[in-house]
Amino acid sequence: MLNTLRKIVQEVNSAKDLKTALGIIVIRVQEAMSSQVCSVYLLDPETNRFVLMATEGLNKRSIGRVSMAPNEGLVGLVGTREEPLNLENAADHPRYRYFAETGEERYASFLGAPIIHHRRVVGVLVIQQKERRQFDEGEEAFLVTMSAQLAGVIAHAEATGSIRGLGRQGKGTQEARFVGVPGSPGAAVGTAVVVLPPADLEVVPDRTVTDVEAEVQLFETALEGVRNDMRTLSAKLATQLRPEERALFDVYLMMLDDASLGSEVKNVIKTGQWAQGALRQVVSEHVSRFELMDDAYLRERAADVKDLGRRLLAYLQQARQQTLVYPDNTILVSEELSPAMLGEVPEGKLVGLISVMGSGNSHVAILARAMGIPTVMGLVDLPYSKVDGIQMIVDGYHGEVFTNPSEILSKQYAAVVEEERELAKGLDALRELPCVTLDGHRMPLWVNTGLLADVARAQQRGAEGVGLYRTEVPFMINQRFPSEKEQLAIYREQLAAFHPLPVTMRSLDIGGDKSLSYFPIKEENPFLGWRGIRVTLDHPEIFLVQARAMLKASEGLNNLRILLPMISGTHEVEEALHLLHRAWGEVRDEGTDVPMPPIGVMVEIPAAVYQTRDLARQVDFLSVGSNDLTQYLLAVDRNNPRVADLYDYLHPAVLQALQHVVTAAHAEGKPVSICGEMAGDPAAAVLLMAMGFDSLSMNATNLPKVKWMLRQVSLEKSRELLAQLMKIDNPQVIHSSLQLALKNQGLARMINPAAPKSL
Ligand code: PEP
Ligand code: MG
Repeated sequence: MLNTLRKIVQEVNSAKDLKTALGIIVIRVQEAMSSQVCSVYLLDPETNRFVLMATEGLNKRSIGRVSMAPNEGLVGLVGTREEPLNLENAADHPRYRYFAETGEERYASFLGAPIIHHRRVVGVLVIQQKERRQFDEGEEAFLVTMSAQLAGVIAHAEATGSIRGLGRQGKGTQEARFVGVPGSPGAAVGTAVVVLPPADLEVVPDRTVTDVEAEVQLFETALEGVRNDMRTLSAKLATQLRPEERALFDVYLMMLDDASLGSEVKNVIKTGQWAQGALRQVVSEHVSRFELMDDAYLRERAADVKDLGRRLLAYLQQARQQTLVYPDNTILVSEELSPAMLGEVPEGKLVGLISVMGSGNSHVAILARAMGIPTVMGLVDLPYSKVDGIQMIVDGYHGEVFTNPSEILSKQYAAVVEEERELAKGLDALRELPCVTLDGHRMPLWVNTGLLADVARAQQRGAEGVGLYRTEVPFMINQRFPSEKEQLAIYREQLAAFHPLPVTMRSLDIGGDKSLSYFPIKEENPFLGWRGIRVTLDHPEIFLVQARAMLKASEGLNNLRILLPMISGTHEVEEALHLLHRAWGEVRDEGTDVPMPPIGVMVEIPAAVYQTRDLARQVDFLSVGSNDLTQYLLAVDRNNPRVADLYDYLHPAVLQALQHVVTAAHAEGKPVSICGEMAGDPAAAVLLMAMGFDSLSMNATNLPKVKWMLRQVSLEKSRELLAQLMKIDNPQVIHSSLQLALKNQGLARMINPAAPKSL
């Protein structure tokens, strides 16, 4: 059964549109269950009715015509109860409704399973049988498993369909929303340009062309190229392979023939598809046909076709390399964006970035933040190969993307973009002004940096110091561990650029989703594994070199602070302090006269929250990493789009933990700052100030907005607001109460869209 299931899913996955996918589902499930009828009903969100979308066994003319409300018929019942329904004699059931047009009067037994994607019922999968038949437990389990598997496939096919105008009931292109994780803040409205990694056939997008002849010509040239390669390869191997083994190359040459793969691709090109898209289509059809075969030898042939496809694609991509056109307002989309891809876009054209893989800590996201380009990462559900050339919205605040946005939504976002531009102009004037509340409370605003490019942006925006310099960034863009001298030079630049303002350098925080290509860490559970201080305490040589480089770099500047990440207890701080003092002694022995800098601990693990007072006694300052603290307190992976809706730094548990940390740090007379993304959210910043944080550190993009906001509020009122919110146990209510309170103070302008999701 498992094999059947796998085969069906595989076949459905390679269907070109929703209609084909559903057609395959009903035929294959009907066969596998030996039933007489299999049908799929999909819920049309506009009419809120379950519409018959595909059937094997019922009258096909009723497809798209027969539909039922959730309170009608057995299908409606399965959909609303969100449970399977197994009836030996359907007509006996009070909810049974008879649809003459389907010809279903002949069917006695009924087994239906809801199709649910991300908690949402998208449809119902039904099998029926003429005779009375009590479907057994195994059959029921199969249908439930089938529909769970198909939910994702249907949602994906539906999204693809609505993107390309092949949506359900031929309704044409529709707006669709996809959820990823925020990569870099900001909003953008523009046109998608899909960039491909070299020669990866599966990710080639569909693209229509007008000059069919030119595409055919390109393909001919590619064919010729591969033919020549094959002949050369075959000749090269003449001394090593027997002639019958070399016959494989003849098979390849035959496959390329006009009568075979070659002509099929040309036929697809003639429908207006570009050569690369046509090649992908034909090759994937052949591959899935081979892969479905029971004969192991024939299944192996799939690999040959794939290989040929890749070779042809490499030629086609060479020919295409210079021809990628970047329109104004380009939104670059790729399975895995690389920094090099950004470099290709002419200046002034790039407005947004979307990567299917990767997280907020990927190189591209780091770069995007430094460049101020709105970015969404980890958009795993986006059928990205289908989006080339379509209109899109990137919401880098919330990690969301909209394809084919409606006019209303486009206008809303265009207004956001325009407002941000206006604000940026006005905010320039703010740069020189202090961040002080209406009742005179000074709130130092610091920045988070990583690349050198962050420095200029931070200075333009009036940062008062660096609250977090992520030293892993220069490590990540290197090919090996940078030497002490190299590190010294990099750190010196940061310290000198901000001097005399303080720069808080965090010791190397790798592990989790931050990996070094030259120091790979493979783990089942990387976020609970070898991360941050755990790695550097196990490798004192790395820690010592880094500490020495930092200390030496601060000579004569004395604006260095050192911060320790991922601290889970006092023993780690003790060990780290021991190493830091050792490095300090060594540096001074070498003749560099520097004072011991202030040392701080990051509070980002729940254990550290409970031990704040103990930790505060050991060091000079504390800094809360709200990104990790939220993730660990709520047990929600900060990079997993499936649970992105649960990731919420305004959750009451997070707010209580933050207040506890501030109170405990102050009880020990130690200052405490916060350097996660939360500090850059203007609405949240009001609460953090009210809690008593001594400074807020954020990305440079958000700094002026936070400053604007804090200059409009009073500390007293903010404290009252915080006190009210701290009594609320429900995150949604906290969001809406915060929004309302700020709105009532005339501050709505700044709370959207940088505010958390539900605002
Ligand atoms: C944090 O966890 O909030 C933090 C600032 O560190 P990073 O995002 O680099 O893990
Ligand atoms: Mg962290």
